[in-house]
Amino acid sequence: MRPCPNDPLTAMTATTAPQRTNLLGLSREQMEAFFLSIGEKKFRAAQVMKWIHHEGCDDFEAMTNLSKALRARLAEVAEIRGPGVVYEGTSSDGTRKWVLEVEDGSYVETVLIPADNGSRRTLCVSSQVGCSLDCSFCSTGKQGFQRNLTAAEIIGQVWVASRSAGPQKDTAQRAVTNVVMMGMGEPLMNYDNVVPAMKLMLDDSAYGLSKRRVTLSTSGVVPMLDKLGDEVDVSLAISLHAATDELRSELVPINRKYNIRALLDACHRYLAKCDSARVVTIEYTLIKDVNDQQQHATELAELLHELPCKINLIPFNPFPHSGYEKPSRNQVMRFQQWLYELGYNAPIRTTRGDDIDAACGQLVGRVKDRTKRHARYIQSIQLDAD
Ligand code: SF4
Repeated sequence: MRPCPNDPLTAMTATTAPQRTNLLGLSREQMEAFFLSIGEKKFRAAQVMKWIHHEGCDDFEAMTNLSKALRARLAEVAEIRGPGVVYEGTSSDGTRKWVLEVEDGSYVETVLIPADNGSRRTLCVSSQVGCSLDCSFCSTGKQGFQRNLTAAEIIGQVWVASRSAGPQKDTAQRAVTNVVMMGMGEPLMNYDNVVPAMKLMLDDSAYGLSKRRVTLSTSGVVPMLDKLGDEVDVSLAISLHAATDELRSELVPINRKYNIRALLDACHRYLAKCDSARVVTIEYTLIKDVNDQQQHATELAELLHELPCKINLIPFNPFPHSGYEKPSRNQVMRFQQWLYELGYNAPIRTTRGDDIDAACGQLVGRVKDRTKRHARYIQSIQLDAD
């Protein structure tokens, strides 16, 4: 059997060059398996997880409830290696942003958005370097796809943000109270690494967030959505953006493979596996003259009438050469009012952290584009201009 590149324990069993196992991204089960593999008891897993995730510790020598011998053994066979911080900025509205360097020198970004009343601090986490899905209104999509992040690189974003506020003993004072998998990348295209990372977000020996405070946002990878519901219980957000297949296929190309009906059916199946009070969050990016007219509001309300859901309206955030425009404030309010009259109280998501470019994919800029999508995109713009 070939070793699985996504298996964090592969390094422990490899017979070639010894490689230290990075404990940062191991879920509880994986951590327990690791300790069993070095002849230790399972309960060491919770002890070490608390040091890593509650205390932000990356030095085995500081883990004073472990014996000296075990600390020395861990230093030989394991490590705690998070992403490097390349940039850290705080916006005038309190939004914080980190640009992080991961294994191959790529950059990813993570953003911590405080609620106005201070009750929540929501971390927007990336799952991939770039994205392969090429949604037409998304700057990350225009950067092409480089690779999936490992579980350590995904949870490492929470680790970096949490560490910035010191040890996490007091839950009320935690730096991160909510996580949304809504940064760069499509999380369900990186399922094998996203799931262990989300398990750590939920685990009491790590971040201990409730399932309502961890949200996975997907553009609709239907088979993986079904699998997700069998494996982990988190809140679900759908990047819908259009109520007809014709328009959605233009905005979100994966719709050509899994259409709106298939996606909504998968949402119903997902909710059937959760507690009865759960609803899906529908994300609807409003683009001027594309999907912001009364007819679109009517179609949206008709489409969603059987799905327990709430709608978030997101005014389009322009980026160079997108070809789209942001609707006026008045048009956004009108769209909200049409939905209200159709029975939906749809909040408008305000743009935060403008002065530090906190919107998805904007600060990192272009990632290494192995798909050459960015080059083709620029070429097409130039051809259009000729
Ligand atoms: S919206 Fe999400 S899925 Fe679509 S291209 Fe952007 S990052 Fe990828």
